[in-house]
Amino acid sequence: MSLRDPNCIFCKIIAGDIPSSRVLETETALAFLDINPINHGHVLLVPKAHHPAIFDLGEEEAAETARLLPRLARAIRKATGADGLNVIINNGDCAGQTIFHGHWHIVPRFKADAVNWPWPHSPYSGDELGQMQFRVKRELEAE
Ligand code: AMP
Ligand code: ZN
Repeated sequence: MSLRDPNCIFCKIIAGDIPSSRVLETETALAFLDINPINHGHVLLVPKAHHPAIFDLGEEEAAETARLLPRLARAIRKATGADGLNVIINNGDCAGQTIFHGHWHIVPRFKADAVNWPWPHSPYSGDELGQMQFRVKRELEAE
């Protein structure tokens, strides 16, 4: 039996306690239509086990879920006639996460749609880029 949070809306959807429009289900993952989509055909892909965000997800579970992405993406593109597609995970409220059961958004995109992209970008200056590379690699090695 996988992890479950009785107060989590996605755990309730996974258990079938509240309705959802399911499109794909495996032993470890579920995909269903987002109830308030960015564009029609917006799908949420969730690991069945309750993990608040990507930081808490095991490698196997992440892989089991993410391996469904290409097939889902092709199906959503065909079903909606989308020109492209964004795959996004929000982690933490500052990053736009509102439901704390980690999930992938698969959002069909259309050439003239009203979705705001790109986000603002700015380059590194001085040795900031090398410093950041060092810090991330150091944390990876410490895992
Ligand atoms: P996030 O803001 O990344 O946590 O995404 C949560 C998403 O869940 C939002 O896009 C909501 O529209 C969607 N959502 C919330 N409740 C439901 C529900 N009952 N069924 C389907 N999607 C939902
Ligand atoms: Zn949950």
